[in-house]
Amino acid sequence: MSSKRPILIIYTGGTMGSVHDPRNGSLVPIDFSQITNHVPELHRAGISIEAVSFNPPIDSSNINPLHWRKIATLITKHYNNYAGFVILHGTDTMSFTASALSFMLEGLKKPVILTGSQLPIGMPRTDGRENLLSSVMIAALKEASGEPVVQEVSVYFGKKLLRGNRAHKQSAHSFDAIVSPNYPSLVDAGVDFKVNHIALFRPNCSTINVKTRFESQIAWFPFFPGMSFNLFESILEKESLRGLVLSTFGSGNAPDSKPLKNMLKHAIDRGVTAVNITQCGHGGVKPEMYATSLMLTECGVIPGGDMTNEAAITKLMFLLGETDDQGLIRQKFTSNIRGELTTH
Ligand code: ASP
Repeated sequence: MSSKRPILIIYTGGTMGSVHDPRNGSLVPIDFSQITNHVPELHRAGISIEAVSFNPPIDSSNINPLHWRKIATLITKHYNNYAGFVILHGTDTMSFTASALSFMLEGLKKPVILTGSQLPIGMPRTDGRENLLSSVMIAALKEASGEPVVQEVSVYFGKKLLRGNRAHKQSAHSFDAIVSPNYPSLVDAGVDFKVNHIALFRPNCSTINVKTRFESQIAWFPFFPGMSFNLFESILEKESLRGLVLSTFGSGNAPDSKPLKNMLKHAIDRGVTAVNITQCGHGGVKPEMYATSLMLTECGVIPGGDMTNEAAITKLMFLLGETDDQGLIRQKFTSNIRGELTTH
């Protein structure tokens, strides 16, 4: 039997596997076998690689919870046969998928690494080759005990391995497209892989338990000066609305408006779960630091601390998919369940 660490690559689509359509010049996905042909080093890395592909591969703008379920199901189906999993995914919504998978895969004890690229893998200056190769090699890393070094959902980009539910796409242009504004990198890829051991997540249960239900009846609202609360109200009144993510100013502040307060209170009283996330790229919500955040607390809006918008949205979708017990949702939303939230 081979002693090579087996890694399963799941190709979903995205720029890494795209070529220019000669008809209109836009990027369209190619099939997976052509991607691995561009990285012959994969076969020399002492790692046994197998791959499955979405058929057809998709641009990540089209990703939805059914695709998250498909990825999670592939991981659990093959969980015992591989040392780790590398998911090739478009960068546009990679941090949403990474966050969603982190909540779905409770008790994960193997690496699930999402990566992609800013340039297609066939292009001379592509970042795809390095991203793919390093992701596979990090997925194969093991401790002296034989356990995988990484036991969580993460994102590899710009020579860094980041926690998946802390990741955020910050640039449509730079090779460092994905960052982790509120949490250190897990691995830095220089000449060697430098593992930041104290930053790694370790699950507190020993068996994997996959939960695949997500609630999609959620609205995401960034505040801006001069916004019309009437438009906001028309969404808040929708019967089907179950969750509301408010992207607020600074440390969690909103316009100090009586009509806004009344509409929020009304929605929350009828069972809509509303959460508060900062629209700043860095830092988090500090409830009641300013009087302008007091109103949100009084209405029953749940503070989201330093979670990214992506983590907060997918966490709310996930929790509302699990239960409609408001107390339980509040308790879980304000707890650090997969390393997504700083709680001290
Ligand atoms: N539109 C592409 C996608 O997210 C962009 C990328 O892969 O970087 O699928």
